[in-house]
Amino acid sequence: MTKPKVAFYWCASCGGCEEAVVDLAEDLLEVVDAVDIVFWPVALDFKRKDVENMKDKELTVSFINGAVRTEEQEEMVKLLREKSGLVIAFGSCAHIGGIPGLANFSDRDGIFERVYKTTESTNNPKSILPKVKTQIAEGELTLPLFFDTVKTLDQVVEIDYYIPGCAPPKDLIMDAVTAILKGKLPEKGSVLAPKKALCDECDRNDSKPEKLEIAEFKRVHEIEIDPEKCFLAQGIICMGISTRAGCGQRCINANMSCRGCFGPLDEVKDHGLRTMAGIASIFALENEEKISEEELQKLMDNLVDPAGLFYMYSLPSSILRGKRMEK
Ligand code: SF4
Ligand code: SF4
Repeated sequence: MTKPKVAFYWCASCGGCEEAVVDLAEDLLEVVDAVDIVFWPVALDFKRKDVENMKDKELTVSFINGAVRTEEQEEMVKLLREKSGLVIAFGSCAHIGGIPGLANFSDRDGIFERVYKTTESTNNPKSILPKVKTQIAEGELTLPLFFDTVKTLDQVVEIDYYIPGCAPPKDLIMDAVTAILKGKLPEKGSVLAPKKALCDECDRNDSKPEKLEIAEFKRVHEIEIDPEKCFLAQGIICMGISTRAGCGQRCINANMSCRGCFGPLDEVKDHGLRTMAGIASIFALENEEKISEEELQKLMDNLVDPAGLFYMYSLPSSILRGKRMEK
């Protein structure tokens, strides 16, 4: 019997999602037994031309992790889309932009300026910047174009399903693989994870305050965190209120508040805005009578890097998609 053909590919990512596949451990053997992996550049020696030579939709499924940062990534994603029956956005960066998406607070010029000129460790006296084409004695060298912004996968091609997480946990990956192999997938476009918020399954939920009465926001390194108590009750921002469940409370169990890598629930268009609105609503209700505008401003000033905090994983998928640059 012919086995389903599967591809794995990475775009702008840290490699953690590739690790997540390797971390399937003995389950990986089951997967390898059930499918033919015909493209996985990080692990096996396949080339782009191998994919180009395939028939359209020859691949049963492509799992693509990472956001789209360069022209080469965009080309590969489009090629894999053409050759695949299903394309799965695998992990936070592919799904909502992820940590690489924080680069959308700047643009190409800003990033190149910082990286190739002004970092403390840079030694580049001629201020040489990467170029798409460079002429040398031996011929022409080329590099893929570095885009001004980072895009999510679904801003480039149509996506069939999303597996969230930084990186996706083993049980979600295996559930998705099983559903694909058995042809028991939910509605196209679904996020293959629970449809409830992390708070709903958090072990600290009993101590979650209905109303926030705090004098100042704290960062995790500034206090001794009570490992039993809800982070919000301790003045630490926790995005579990607006973040999809399914991660197994990995951060919470490590005594770290949720930063939102699983993305928002289905109906939410902007994860950062929803979190801010959620926190503002529980905060304002209790305090509006007692707190002066000045005190409120002081409290807000004490919230370090709110844009980076609330959009840590989701900036490219937000309504603004990033900072509006002047040019
Ligand atoms: S806010 Fe965070 S710590 Fe509190 S219940 Fe929700 S997920 Fe748990
Ligand atoms: S707690 Fe939040 S940031 Fe951590 S793994 Fe879960 S969803 Fe991601």
